[in-house]
Amino acid sequence: MSKVILQPTGNAIAKLNYQTSVLNTVELNLLKQYLSQKEVTYLENIYGNYGVTVWGVTVGVNNRNKKQWERINEGDIALFAGKNKIFSSATITYKLHNKQLAIELWGCKEGVTWECIYFLDEIKHHNIRTQDFNHLLGYALDNPIRGFRVLDEEKSLKVLEYFNFNSNKYFPQISEDEYEEIIKQYTSAESLDTKSNGKSRREQAFLRRFLFGNKKGECCGICGNEYPVEFLVAAHIKKRAECTKEEKLDYKNIVMPMCSFGCDSLFEKGIISVTNGIVQLINNEKSLTLSMKNSISKIEGRNCEYWGANTIKYFEWHQKHHGKQT
Ligand SMILES: [Zn+2]
Repeated sequence: MSKVILQPTGNAIAKLNYQTSVLNTVELNLLKQYLSQKEVTYLENIYGNYGVTVWGVTVGVNNRNKKQWERINEGDIALFAGKNKIFSSATITYKLHNKQLAIELWGCKEGVTWECIYFLDEIKHHNIRTQDFNHLLGYALDNPIRGFRVLDEEKSLKVLEYFNFNSNKYFPQISEDEYEEIIKQYTSAESLDTKSNGKSRREQAFLRRFLFGNKKGECCGICGNEYPVEFLVAAHIKKRAECTKEEKLDYKNIVMPMCSFGCDSLFEKGIISVTNGIVQLINNEKSLTLSMKNSISKIEGRNCEYWGANTIKYFEWHQKHHGKQT
C-alpha cells in the first residue's frame, strides 16, 4: 500500500535544497563515486540518461526522522509543503542512507547533513491549501504541516484517493500471500468506497509487478508495439467481474499487457478477440469509423503470444461472451 510522506520545506535551507535537487536534476555521473555498483545500476534503470531528482532528511533528534524514513517504500508519495500550501507531489523510486552523498549534494550545517536520502520521479506541481488537507484528515484547520513524517495507511489512502496523487508508473510491492488475501476478501457486493479502492489498487499493483517487474517499457500483447509501462494495462482476458476467485488467483494466466492506445479498449468492448492465437475482429456491427477500421486492420491477423494451453479457456470465454452480442 502506498503511503504519504509529509515533507515540509519551510525554511531557507530546505528551499535551497529543493531548488538544487528537485527543481533541478542532478547528473547520476556526479554521484557514482558515492554509490555501490548495484545502486548505480538500479538508478540507471530508472533514470537512464536523464538527471535524477533526489531529496534527503537529517536523522533528527533521537533518530526521529530516520525512524520515519525507514518506513518509506518505492511507490510512496511525498508531499512538499510550505507557506500553508502543498505545492508539489512526487513518487519515491528508491532510498538509501549515505552521509557522503548528502554532503556532496547539499553540504552540511553544523556537522549535520540530510543523509536519509530518497529518490523521486513524477514531480507534479499543486496549489493545495493546508486547510483543505487538514479538513480531509480531521485536523485543526490552522494546523501547519510541520515536521517530516509518514502517514499511516488509512490516512494515506484517504489523501491519495481524494487528491488523486496515485502514480500510474510506480506501484508498491505486494506479496503473493497478500494478493491471495485481497482476492479472498472481496465480497460479491463490491462497492466503490475508499477501502475497496485501496484493495483494487493493491490488486493492480501485484498484477502489474507480475507482468512488468521493474521494466520501464513492455510490448502490448495485442498490437505488439512497445510502450512505457504507464501506457499499458494489466488487462484481464476473461472479464474480471465474471471471474471466480480461483480464476482471479490464476494471475499467471488471467492477465496480459494491453496498451491504452486502443487495444485495451477494443478488447474490453469485445470488438476484437484472439481466436486460435490470432487477433481478429469479431464485432463488426458496431459503429466503427474508417480510422478505427484502419487501425484494427493493422493488428488483425497478428499472433498473440499470450494465447496458449493455460490461457485458451479465458480467450474462448472472451470470444463467446462478446460474440453473442452480434
Ligand atoms: Zn496495443
